[in-house]
Order: sequence, then C-alpha cells, then structure tokens
Amino acid sequence: NDRVPADDVLVTADQRHMIHPLHFAADHASPKIFTAARGSMLRTSDGREYIDGLSGLWNVHIGHGRRELAEAAATQMQTLDYASAYAGYSNAPAIRLAERLVGLAYDNMAAAYFTTGGAESNESAFKFARYHWKRLGRPDKVKIISRRYAYHGVTMAAMSATSLPNYQTMFGPMVPEFLQVAPPYPYRWTGNGDPGIGAADAVEEAILAAGAGTVAAVIAEPVMGSGGVIVPPDTYWPRLRQVCDRHDVLIIADEVITGFGRTGTWFGLTHWGVQPDLMSFAKGVTSGYLPLGGVIVSKAMHDVIQSAPASEKFMHAATYSGHPVCCAVALANLDILENEGLVERARVQGDRFRAGLETLRSLPAVGEVRGIGMLAAVELVADQASKAPAKGLGARVMAAATERGLITRLRGAADGPPASGDTICFAPPLSTPEATLDRIVQIIGESIQAAS
Ligand code: PLP
Repeated sequence: NDRVPADDVLVTADQRHMIHPLHFAADHASPKIFTAARGSMLRTSDGREYIDGLSGLWNVHIGHGRRELAEAAATQMQTLDYASAYAGYSNAPAIRLAERLVGLAYDNMAAAYFTTGGAESNESAFKFARYHWKRLGRPDKVKIISRRYAYHGVTMAAMSATSLPNYQTMFGPMVPEFLQVAPPYPYRWTGNGDPGIGAADAVEEAILAAGAGTVAAVIAEPVMGSGGVIVPPDTYWPRLRQVCDRHDVLIIADEVITGFGRTGTWFGLTHWGVQPDLMSFAKGVTSGYLPLGGVIVSKAMHDVIQSAPASEKFMHAATYSGHPVCCAVALANLDILENEGLVERARVQGDRFRAGLETLRSLPAVGEVRGIGMLAAVELVADQASKAPAKGLGARVMAAATERGLITRLRGAADGPPASGDTICFAPPLSTPEATLDRIVQIIGESIQAAS
C-alpha cells in the first residue's frame, strides 16, 4: 500500500467522524479517497487511476473536469450567489433553465419546478399529483403505484415508492398509500405472454383493486437503473399510457437516470413515443458538478396550478429551489451536451459498447447482457439454463474489476424480489473514448473469468 502518511490521518478521521451514504463500517477499513478526476478517469490518494464506469453515480454525463462549468459557477457566484426564488422573486439563470428544459422535454410539457436532487424531485412529484387531483375536486386520489426493483430515492415517500428491500428493512414502516406491481423484466418474467403487456396490465389490476378513485399516479423509470438496468419491451410504455388514461391516473416518468442523453435520446420515453404527465430529473442536468433536480409538468397540470385561488395555492418550497449557481452550471452543461453532440454519441457509442459486452455471453456465468444508449448491465448466473443466481459472484467480480482499475456498481441479487442474479451495471460518461469503453469490456470479461 503506497498511501502517504497524511492519508492515514484522513482515514482515521473518516472512520471516526463521517457517516456515509449506505454506511457500513467494514467498508471503511481502507476507503478509496478520491482526489482528482478528468474525463472518464478518477484518481485516488494512493496515486491509482480508475475508469469511472458509472459516471460517478450515473450522473457525470459530460465527463469530469470541464473548465466551462467551473467558470459558469465562479461567474454566477460573483454576480448573484444566492437569492430566494419563492413566489414573487426569481433569477435569470433559473428562468432561462426552466424555459430551456421545457423546450428539450416532451411536447406536452410546460413548466419546471427546481429541487436539489432526485429524491426531492420525486417527493415533489407525488405532491404535484395529489395537489392536481385535490384542485380538480377528487381529493381521494392519493395512492401512488410503483414497480418492484424501482429506485426513486431514500426520503420517506420516495423510499416507499422504491422497491429494493435492502433500502427499506431498517426504516419501516413505509408510507401506506404506496403500492408495488411487477416490473417489465423480460429475462425474469414468469407470467404468460408478453412481459410488456403483462406488466402494464399488472398496473391496471392494481388500479382496479385499489379503486381508480383512490389512485393519483404511477411512477416509473423509463428504463430501470439501480434495479439492474432493466429495459422494458416495446409494448410496455404505450400500453401503460392507455391504462393510465383509462383510469385518470397520472404518469410520473422518473428520468433521474434516463434524462439528458443517457439512453441516446434527450429523455427516455422518446424511444416509445409516449409522453408522461410529469417528469422528475436530477443527476445529468448538471453532470453532477452541483446538486440540482426538478419536476417538469404538462400544460394541463400547469394550468391547474396557474388558476388556483389563494386558498389552494401550491404551498411547496425549498430554500435551494431555483438556486442561481446550480442553474447557471446546468445551462453550461446543456451547452456542452448540445455542442458536442453527446446525446447522439451516447446512442452510437452505446451500441458499440453493448456489442462488446455481448461477446461475454460465451462465459458460462453471464446470463444476460442488456441496455440502451450508454446504459448497460451484465446479469450473472450460476447456470445459464436455469438462470439460478450465482451467490457471491457479483461481489467477487466487482473486487476483481476494481483491482484491474474499473469502478462501477453492483445490483446485488439480495436487493430485490423476485430472485435474480447479481447484476453489474455500467453508465460511463457519454464522452468516454472508444478505447476506454473497450477496456471496460476487457476488464469485466477478465474479472468474471477470474471470479468464476
Ligand atoms: N430516481 C432514480 C431513478 C435514481 O436512480 C435516483 C438515484 O440514483 C434517485 C431517484 C434519487 O436521486 P438522489 O440520490 O439525487 O436523491
């Protein structure tokens, strides 16, 4: 170990004084302390370099270290560092960003509300949905339907819509008005017929069982991310839209991962020609350089908000909603995504990357390779024919990959029902060079072989 002594002081302080997201003390015997990042590479305090195979946490779309974003932040901080955006106040970067996002989003979208991240966006989306129905004289429409394997964040309601038991067990009970249904997971589908139709119909069954008059919205990631990069069949989204229209249920598209080019289009549902009623976003909007998220709502929903009397005004807020520095950085990030054609690049290079991963199917431990755009996953199994999960293999593959200089993320078999294999997820920056993408394929292939 070639850590410098100053690091030992940091490691000790980390162990004594820092509580981490998903904290587990044993993980901090020897934490990786990141010190610098450039492009698709991360550097740690022991001088090692790693490929950032997950763009941080699925968010650094343009790659690390872009001067343009640093300059946008510095300029904005020196001009207007912070000011309230509560009703009656506003600022230019927030206004410009709202207008620009509405222009990039689905045709039916009209207005944006800003938050600081994904969970807060989804919390806000649930409140937008309930508010909408209360304003329209249907106050009993409060329930939210989500899918098993979903990840929507860890605040109380977002966690109740999340359906990965590991995140929930120690924090229950969940919010009662949240219901879960089967996901459109073709590789693990056990029902009859087409999994897209079956999973959309499972939503309809849940609506009917709960009573359509009690259901406010369905929340769904266009492509499930943390649950294991689960791409739905083409039949799913159009059918889900029909189901929701039939029962006056809103669709919240959780575009926290799928937004801003990750899937090879600006937003995920474009692949299926479907428009949601509201969409949450975060992560890629600033490429992670500063925290920002939000909700974009349809013209119909916006009209309901705009026409509210004082007694029913939208009393939802946060200090950092519309933060001028975060919004200025988002605008600079969108400039780079547009000017450098990174959305198109994600489509083309993503296809090439997944074709590389497909070659790993010949390894007995590889059950499925799947993905869309610059989003991919390899699901590991003990046996290709039975698809039985391979216990502990994912963790061993991850350790072998890290040793070879690749950092990425595992959706463990234990994380979600029904039983599935350990799944290695990939979401490299949209700007990742071809040679680096090829190296990821090589490392993961070697790691699976070494760990099997
Ligand atoms: N929604 C989705 C689809 C996510 O993937 C995430 C985070 O990974 C979230 C919401 C929560 O976002 P945050 O961690 O910014 O609260």
